[in-house]
Amino acid sequence: MKPSLKTLFPSGCEAYVKACCQSFTEAHGRRPGVHIRTFGCQQNEADSERIAGMAEALGYEYTDNPEKAEFILYNTCAVREHAELKALSLTGQLKHLKAKNPHLLIGICGCMVAQEHRLDDIKNKYPYVDFLFGTASMEKLPEYLAIALKQGKRAFYPDAEYGIPEGLPVRRESTFKAWVSIMYGCNNFCTYCVVPYVRGRERSRRKECILEEIRGLVKNGCREITLLGQNVNSYGKGLYEDYGFAELLSDICKIEGDYWIRFMTSHPKDASHKLIDVIAAHSGDDCRPKIVKQFHLPLQSGSSRVLKAMNRHYDREAYRSLMTYMKEKIPDVALSTDIIVGFPGETEEDFEDTLSMLEEVRYDAFFSFIYSIRRGTPAEKMEQVPEDVKSRRFARLLDTQNRISREKNQEYVGRVERVLVESVSKTDASLLTGRNEKNRLVHFPGDAALIGTFAEVKILTADTYCLTGELVP
Ligand code: SAH
Ligand code: SF4
Repeated sequence: MKPSLKTLFPSGCEAYVKACCQSFTEAHGRRPGVHIRTFGCQQNEADSERIAGMAEALGYEYTDNPEKAEFILYNTCAVREHAELKALSLTGQLKHLKAKNPHLLIGICGCMVAQEHRLDDIKNKYPYVDFLFGTASMEKLPEYLAIALKQGKRAFYPDAEYGIPEGLPVRRESTFKAWVSIMYGCNNFCTYCVVPYVRGRERSRRKECILEEIRGLVKNGCREITLLGQNVNSYGKGLYEDYGFAELLSDICKIEGDYWIRFMTSHPKDASHKLIDVIAAHSGDDCRPKIVKQFHLPLQSGSSRVLKAMNRHYDREAYRSLMTYMKEKIPDVALSTDIIVGFPGETEEDFEDTLSMLEEVRYDAFFSFIYSIRRGTPAEKMEQVPEDVKSRRFARLLDTQNRISREKNQEYVGRVERVLVESVSKTDASLLTGRNEKNRLVHFPGDAALIGTFAEVKILTADTYCLTGELVP
């Protein structure tokens, strides 16, 4: 018979891990290190910040250097094969660290290992991975760590239930930018996508919890809050009768302060005029807070036929009319989108429809992906487009959007933009890097003391991906 957790840890798993960290600290003169590497989307980033917060509360100290860690965790992504292969290859490289450090625990969590075949891969091919868990159960981290530390046996905890983590400590990467998850999971089952299988059904956080979290962030000087959900437009479904994303946004805007509100991702089938009206009402230049005049609305394909096969529940016309309403209400809105190239059955004509939508909408930016087969999804069984055709179309798509982005960026030259200063530029230490409300990257010379504040920058030059300017005194 398996001993119960209570027998193993009479004073609790948390107390046990804390005691282990304490004795490590006494023996080594430093706290044990924790290092987390995050793959994929912002939701994973947000989850990792909570996992790091829990580890620190247990007695670990965060380190950017895996060589100095006693606990390494990879938070993985499953949306495309490329992300999985990268995570697996980097997991392979952890073997030598395990050999060097007898105290090292290695954990893998996130969407990749929520798939049975990947869980088996880790079990069978990576014997130095100590434990594995789905992120829906991340609040059980003390239990996973306690069992690994006490028993030294490998353990696998795929998500059995999908809850809503509340009240967990969080170690935010930034003091002035924050992710706030408003809902988890997805009910949409787009035929290419693995997310509903690995993140469970949609569930929304209670509005009081979200508002309280934002109030705390604003009080601490946060300048940008990004609301996260796989489909933020269906916020509140199953929880409230008459309270959805538009109402939540309105309530957030009542929390006074000089900060920007972003959100992602909206699904076109649920993006309503009511939502656009709320954005329009709170995105004026004198609004504080301000909903940014930037709207990310994934199109995926410009062909109604392909959209149907993707199970997206809107067609080209419906998407177009949303865009028209958006531009009518907020004429200078910046638009961005996601596009998949080479979805099964995509013909040359379908692809031309996507290109023509790019020309018509004139997005400021986009994220484009070559279709990647996901095991267990309906599109896996559909007739696939040859790789060379996908690559050729992808290159044409990039050329088209890059030209449009370049042209749109040129329009900024001569204007003064409000920029949230983020860091010293990675490529030139004399420059600061920030973003304007429309999410354009802006470089300009300035003092690092400006990081975390809003600055007024006059734009002098522009290229495809960024703007360069000078501070307005
Ligand atoms: N919930 C969000 C984003 C989910 S994943 C939404 O619906 O927009 C982010 C993007 O990855 C998607 O918008 C889609 O463009 C892309 N994507 C998802 N599955 C993919 C696949 N199998 N191959 C290529 N791209 C994919
Ligand atoms: Fe995937 Fe579609 Fe859900 Fe987005 S809405 S997560 S693309 S299934």
